[in-house]
Amino acid sequence: MDFTESDEQRLLRTTVAKIAGSYGHAWFVDQARTGGKAQALWDELSAAGFTGVNVPEPYGGGQGLLELAMVAEETAAQGIPLLIFLVSPAICGEILARHGTAEQQAQWLPGIGSGTEKMAFAITEPDAGSNSHKVSTWARRDGEGWRLSGTKYYISGVDEAANLLVVTRTGTDERTGRGELTLFIVPTDAPGLTWTPISVELVATEQQFTVTFDEVAVSDANRIGPVGGGLRPLFTGLNPERILSAAVLNGIARYCLDKASAYATTREVWGVPIGSHQGIAHPLAEAAIGVELARLMTLKAAWSFDQGLDAAASSNLAKLAAADAALVAVDRAIQTHGGNGMSTDYGLVTMWGMARLLKVAPVSREMVLNWVATHELGLPRSY
Ligand SMILES: Cc1cc2nc3c(=O)[nH]c(=O)nc-3n(C[C@H](O)[C@H](O)[C@H](O)COP(=O)(O)OP(=O)(O)OC[C@H]3O[C@@H](n4cnc5c(N)ncnc54)[C@H](O)[C@@H]3O)c2cc1C
Repeated sequence: MDFTESDEQRLLRTTVAKIAGSYGHAWFVDQARTGGKAQALWDELSAAGFTGVNVPEPYGGGQGLLELAMVAEETAAQGIPLLIFLVSPAICGEILARHGTAEQQAQWLPGIGSGTEKMAFAITEPDAGSNSHKVSTWARRDGEGWRLSGTKYYISGVDEAANLLVVTRTGTDERTGRGELTLFIVPTDAPGLTWTPISVELVATEQQFTVTFDEVAVSDANRIGPVGGGLRPLFTGLNPERILSAAVLNGIARYCLDKASAYATTREVWGVPIGSHQGIAHPLAEAAIGVELARLMTLKAAWSFDQGLDAAASSNLAKLAAADAALVAVDRAIQTHGGNGMSTDYGLVTMWGMARLLKVAPVSREMVLNWVATHELGLPRSY
């Protein structure tokens, strides 16, 4: 078993860190608070070939989800946690690469691979929530094509995206009552598609939206995977989303622990650096161990996915472990800074919202525990 990263991977990490570091956390917060975007950074990372490293080589990538996770982690470790990594190259890129037809790949993957086009992802609905089998955004046949109607909410980055990958219902399984799901790619400027921003207490450069489909006409050529057989392609995208969430969380944790270590080595109040007190050092050391364990599971999950192995368990575990570890790291970094932990200049509290979000989304802590209880431990399903 080889845990060493290749020279190329190390170079990828340092190059991304250098680019993202030239923007930095204060820039990120400023963009987020003024309704700006992280577009300048995204463009620079894209020009270097990093935002779509995981898509197949003919479309601008040629590496794996592992490398995409490294890009997202290093960007977050510079204080810039980006949700768009989870959605566009991870979910949409991987679903298209594994389930799109040659024509569909040729149409949408070059934009995702080069980073010149983003694709948003819409599954969450007000009345379905964590129960995706209940989605009620219907796609109904209309001649050769389809008409989509329904509402999705908390959809990130719709305003930045050229297209939206939408999870719809095209029927109901009579035996189970569960929705038969079908995936479609819908241009964000399609007639009948409207979106309104949702205000959230989160420092992020991506905005969230309620998206309404009012009899939106979609060509059958935009259907990804079989009619009613959307679960398989959907699950292809959900593991990458969890892995990229974990990668972003690991980056957030590293950013906070780096700041805490720097502060604890220089700040003196009793004639010695505060980091020499075990009351400060041990909580940070413990947090660092949690982060390292989460990183290991994240890399295992990404590697498993790239090898075509079942990555469900490792992706779920990585996401849960990384969220817990990041929240501990943020909190202990704030504690280490004393009153300065609250200051704008030290840029710590501004990371908390993203870490906290990723404990709930894209899959909540409770749903991961449910999954582990039933799939790994064989316990009865509670719902
Ligand atoms: C900032 C932000 C960005 C987002 N971006 C996107 C996006 O781009 N695309 C998209 O489709 N969605 C997006 N989401 C939605 C997100 O994925 C969901 O909020 C998340 O999956 C949880 O679903 P829910 O909010 O409906 O919670 P609910 O399903 O209503 O759950 C509420 C609580 O009940 C718990 N719970 C539910 N069922 C069970 C059970 N069986 N056992 C134990 N506990 C249970 C949950 O764990 C949770 O704590 C985003 C959300 C936010 C806040």
